[in-house]
Amino acid sequence: MALSRLLPRPNTRTKTTKESTLPKVIAFANQKGGVAKTTTTLNLGVAFKERGFRVLLVDLDPQGNLTMSQGLNPDAIERSMFDVLVHRIPLEDVIEQREVDLAVSSIDLAGAELALASQIGRERALEKALASVRERYDYVLIDTPPSLGLLTINAFVAATSVIVPVQCEYLSLRGLVQLENTLSMVRENLNPVVEITGILPTLFDKRTLHAREAVDILRENFGELVYNTKIAKTIRYAEAPVKGQSVLAYDPDGEAAMLYRDLAREVLNGAKPRQHA
Ligand code: ADP
Ligand code: MG
Repeated sequence: MALSRLLPRPNTRTKTTKESTLPKVIAFANQKGGVAKTTTTLNLGVAFKERGFRVLLVDLDPQGNLTMSQGLNPDAIERSMFDVLVHRIPLEDVIEQREVDLAVSSIDLAGAELALASQIGRERALEKALASVRERYDYVLIDTPPSLGLLTINAFVAATSVIVPVQCEYLSLRGLVQLENTLSMVRENLNPVVEITGILPTLFDKRTLHAREAVDILRENFGELVYNTKIAKTIRYAEAPVKGQSVLAYDPDGEAAMLYRDLAREVLNGAKPRQHA
């Protein structure tokens, strides 16, 4: 009896531990394109900001979709993440203030992998660059290109956690093994703490059995890692970036915005509540 009173009360204790280990730098990765990495980076970032957090988004994709989705033209940008990573200019020089702060990309970034390849510390360029601004933000969300090359590895080295958006289709599930292998190598050699903290079902078409089965398969393989929030397929996600807005700004009361608010709640609560939500 006395001993049991000394033991931590499981519920409250677990929660405290989860809160203190909350991810601060989250990379959104999947080497498959079109799975909603960019959409999720932006809308989850804006949902975090709505809840009072200070948020920085980093566009690490040479295609610059995240940059465009906040109404900026990557072709007209003079200094971008390329200069930060390759020429080591301060990160704050490429931050634009939009709905949330955004470190911008330009097409130059396509040359970054090659330019970095011969540099010592090439995998740590982003981590180094973030060090100077980290104090100013509660969350840094990094959008990555559809590959597992040096840019994505830089994101994994800088990150405390990785969220993997997965399109709800059978074939989308195959690349996850390769992604996890790359992450294991990063853990062994460069950043021991980084791990997948969540798998997000995206482009979910609730009318089809196929989509529901794909989510079931995800759950069978990855269990609790799969978020309860499933991002439904809706044209709103394609419409909002054309206006240079998140869905939370474009259609604040719509389902599309609510889903990313739900996801924000789930991510902020850590792994535990997922089972019950
Ligand atoms: P990625 O960054 O993984 O390549 P994007 O976020 O750019 O993927 O999304 C790919 C395309 O799908 C974009 O045109 C985007 O607007 C659209 N999209 C993203 N999420 C959804 C969704 N839930 N429903 C419908 N379209 C979506
Ligand atoms: Mg993208």
